[in-house]
Amino acid sequence: MTRTLLAVSLASLLASSPAFAGETKASPATVQAAAALRDQALKDNTGWKVLESLTTEVGQRMAGSEGDARAVEWAKAKFKELGFDKVWTQPVTFPKWERRSEHGEVLGAHSQKLVLTALGGSPGGTVEGEVVRFDSLEALQNAAPGSLAGKIAFVDVMMPRAKDGHGYGIGSRVRTTGASSASKAGAIGYVMRPAGTDWERNPHTGMTRFENGVKPIPEASLTNIDADQLARLVKLGPTRIRVALDCGFNGEYTSQNVIGEITGSSKPDEIVALAGHLDSWDLGTGAIDDGSGVAISMAAAQLAGKMKRPERTIRVVAFANEEQGLWGGRVYAESQKDKIAKSQIVMESDSGPGRVYEFGGTWSKDAEPAMAQVAELLKPLGIAYTPGKGEAESEMGLMQGAGSAAGAFAHDATRYFDLHHTPNDTLDKVDPEDLRVDIAAYATLAFIAANVDGSLGSGTMPAPEPRKRR
Ligand SMILES: [Zn+2]
Repeated sequence: MTRTLLAVSLASLLASSPAFAGETKASPATVQAAAALRDQALKDNTGWKVLESLTTEVGQRMAGSEGDARAVEWAKAKFKELGFDKVWTQPVTFPKWERRSEHGEVLGAHSQKLVLTALGGSPGGTVEGEVVRFDSLEALQNAAPGSLAGKIAFVDVMMPRAKDGHGYGIGSRVRTTGASSASKAGAIGYVMRPAGTDWERNPHTGMTRFENGVKPIPEASLTNIDADQLARLVKLGPTRIRVALDCGFNGEYTSQNVIGEITGSSKPDEIVALAGHLDSWDLGTGAIDDGSGVAISMAAAQLAGKMKRPERTIRVVAFANEEQGLWGGRVYAESQKDKIAKSQIVMESDSGPGRVYEFGGTWSKDAEPAMAQVAELLKPLGIAYTPGKGEAESEMGLMQGAGSAAGAFAHDATRYFDLHHTPNDTLDKVDPEDLRVDIAAYATLAFIAANVDGSLGSGTMPAPEPRKRR
């Protein structure tokens, strides 16, 4: 991007026609300030500093762990340090799952170690049995009841790599539902090729849930490398493995959604909300999932609020326990259910710190002129405009589903699932330049939404399609 390009696009914006009655459009002065904000964000290191602080000082922060408690204190202090006007918390209670130890091995003539990790929600236990390999989830689902008695089911499906991350739909289904299907067919244990695209010897954890009435069985993810090895061994002949997991649910825990606000000057009860989730899995330090979402939101809101006191309140929510089932998101959505019309817009970053390449979302027809202004401001960042396409991530998807206007930024997820839920999810994987572009994008949208003349349509739109989650 060059200065000339920015100057040209700004000039064309300022020359655009005034809003018609009922239309929502930003004033030329607001557009000009948003362009300055965007350019400033491209030179600012606040987001990186926030991310470095979270991943270094707190580290891993699985829901219900000691790190979770430290992350809550960290977020409260960070909002204050960044100059947010108001910091508050919402209690979020959930069943606490713990990982203590895990061990896998091939038994018999080809005995050797298998690298694996327990899936979230797995019961503890040690199981030994012959492996039955399935090359699709459907094949396992079709296994006759009792046909896997005493066996360990192995679903061997490679998740495809994709810029838009769609391969995760396949990988996460194998993870969330596979063990239930295995148990229904009589299996004593479940292992899977990971919901991940890397060739590192790092397993990918993630949440699972057993269907009601289905007996929970120990379940684990291999690495892609170990899945290859196990597939070769099964091809050689009957293969027995041992999976020993010490993990499981242990009572309840109450964490907190941590919320920081920059109070609006003239419409303080109208809310522009940005979000990420504060919890992570326990294997890495949660830099990409979702420390970057927390850092992007905090930095974008702070920069937007510093440019000028916003007319509406800019709020950042650092959600508790996304990973184990949107627990914090459900508490937040419940607390906002009577305030949807006052939700100017929601947005969340929870698909990593890859560079944003598309901007879309859902808003009313009247809001289209304002969103076209945002799109024009984002064009020099290489961000394409895809109105009507795009889901708010994770927790804020619940708000979008409840009728809130929502912004959706597609981040380049080509490498995201190499790292997602693994020990390799660490700060060094984040590109500071990509992070700055992301923050510039979120800040620009937040600034326009907070200062535009009129509503973006929350509470007036039909409910969109159900959301996916990652
Ligand atoms: Zn996440």
